[in-house]
Order: sequence, then structure tokens, then C-alpha cells
Amino acid sequence: MTGGVLSGPSAIADGRGGFSIETVEVDPPGPGEVRVAMAAAGVCHTDHASLRWPGPLVMGHEGAGHVESIGAGVRGLAPGQPVLLNWAIPCGACFQCGRGAQALCERTHELDVPALGTSRAHPGGTRLHGRPIERSFHLGTFARHALVRAEAVTPLPDGLPPDPACILGCAVMTGVGSALNVAAVAPGESVAVLGCGGVGLNVIQGARIAGAAVVVAVDRVPARLERARELGATHLLPATDDAEDLVARVRALTGGRGVDHAFEATGVSALAFLPLQLARNGGNALQVSGAHGAGSVELPRFFWNKRYLTPLYGDCVPGRDFPRLFDWVAQGRLELAALVSHRYPLGALDRAFADMLEGRSAKGVLRIA
Ligand SMILES: [Zn+2]
Ligand SMILES: [Zn+2]
Repeated sequence: MTGGVLSGPSAIADGRGGFSIETVEVDPPGPGEVRVAMAAAGVCHTDHASLRWPGPLVMGHEGAGHVESIGAGVRGLAPGQPVLLNWAIPCGACFQCGRGAQALCERTHELDVPALGTSRAHPGGTRLHGRPIERSFHLGTFARHALVRAEAVTPLPDGLPPDPACILGCAVMTGVGSALNVAAVAPGESVAVLGCGGVGLNVIQGARIAGAAVVVAVDRVPARLERARELGATHLLPATDDAEDLVARVRALTGGRGVDHAFEATGVSALAFLPLQLARNGGNALQVSGAHGAGSVELPRFFWNKRYLTPLYGDCVPGRDFPRLFDWVAQGRLELAALVSHRYPLGALDRAFADMLEGRSAKGVLRIA
């Protein structure tokens, strides 16, 4: 049932800002593990950041494909089943999982599948430069095969193919979940979103699904604002360097008060606190881009009674959220196909990065199979 070692091309980050396509050998799945034949993988800003993570590293943390083989004890999955991968892999038993915050699981690292080249069937066979190969977010989806824990795998429903479903497992979940699970946008409320890339566009979709009355999209690139309109933005504001002017324009759309929920989805750390100025008193300011780097804020920005939140992965609870997202796609309420603006072979990852960094793509998808 579990077959032997399989080899295929993988995008490997070198830890110094570069990557190469290498042939990597992947062990058969051990107990509780699944080997997935990748079909499609979304490209995210975090993948570009991962070029400098300790490597070598199989890149990619969004993806979907077909079950190739399953390890002992894996239930409910069979070879050939189309599946979505999810990078925040809950243990189901720790303090955070127990309180329902599965995206914050404390044992994900501990339970991870061993790095390639350290394990059973092929010791040393998959090392690069003598070192075992790590996998981005316990997945490594920019590869012909991914070896993952069974808890990372969600079966896809009939009629939802791996492309475009692959982007559900990071960008869509992060954006839609931040709007619905974390901010809990309610019908008739107002929302502002800074940055209309893969995550920001999905905050906008989440706000639309929630029934927000005012959804203000802010971006520098006109084509991205146009996409935001198609996905649910009611007002489009071209970004400028004048933050005070932007704050004034958003307030003017909300009776001078500020929006109920303001989101930063640019990845620019200097903008991380701007949502505090866009949100009304008693409103929510959310930094959903995961921007790192330095930033500072004057305490009066929090006045009065504003909540500043940094949700991880839209507070994803896989068993609750993925079935709901699948239903919304089937009903036409959640747009996936329109988000995938560019497709590439695995070998064109550099072009996918360039299109993303220069704001040409909404979501780029690598076609792997
Ligand atoms: Zn846990
Ligand atoms: Zn991502």
C-alpha cells in the first residue's frame, strides 16, 4: 500500500536568497502519514521570505493534489483521492487546540514528519550538500510529492479540482477567516482593507460574504483595485504616501467616524499600525499580512477602546472552516477561479515571484502534475 521511495523535482531554497530545482527522493509514508502527488501550489509572499530561512528547504505551503499512498493507521483517505493541504496542522490535544485555537497548536513542530533525508527507508539519500532537507510549514508543496501528517490533509469535494482549490490552504483561509472568524464582520458594517494582493482580496471576499455595507479597498496598483471591485469592494482608493489624507478619505466614507474593521494586508511593516487610525472608536484594527520588521506606534492611536489583533491564518479550525469554504465555492459565493491570475510550470518559479512582487498577479499557481 505504501510503495517505495519516489523521486521528482522540487524547488529548494538555499537559505541565502536563492533557490534551485532539484530531484528529491521522498520516503513512503510512515504511520499516520500521507504521501501526496502534488497537482497545483499557490505562490505566496511568505514563499519569497522562505528563500532566507535555514535550508535547504522544500518550498511551498499552499497546495493540493491526490493521495499517492497512506501510512499505517490513516483512516478516511485512499490513493487517488483529491486533497487540499493545510499548513497549520493541529494536534487536537494541546492547550490551544483544547480551547479551539487550532491555528496556534503548540505541538505542530514536535509531531512533524522528519526532514527528508533523516528517515527510515532511504537514510542519507535525499540530503543536499550533506544536510537533510527541511519542508516549508511542514508541507513543502513546490514538489512532485509531499510527505505530510494525515491531519494536514482535507479531502476535496467532487467538482472542486486541485487548481484552483490549492489557494484555499493559505491566502483564502487567511483573508476570509480574518474577516469572519476574527473580526466577525456583521451585516451592514464597514470595512477598509489596505493592500489588494492574495490575502487582501480574500478579506474583501469575507467582508462581502458577511454582508458588509461599505468595503473600502486601498492599493497603489489600479488593476488590483479593479479586481477588488469584482470581488466585493464598494469603494476604491488609490494609495498615496500621505497617510493622513487616506485616513481623512476613509473617515469621509463613514460619517467621519472611521470603519468598524480596518485590515492591513500589505506586508509593509511601516503600515502595520495604520488600521488603528482607520478604525472607529471601539472598532477593530487587524494586521493580517504577518509583516515582520520594526514598527512603532503612539499610544493615542489606540484611543479609544480599539482592539489591535494579529490573527494567524484567519484562526483556522480545519474541520469547521474548510467544509464551509467548499460550500461557498460550490454556491458561487466565494470566488476562486478569478483569483488565480497567472499559472506557471514549477521551473518558472522565478517568474511567479517577479509577477507577485511587482503586483501583476492576484494569485500565481504552479502547475506541478
Ligand atoms: Zn495542538
Ligand atoms: Zn501563505
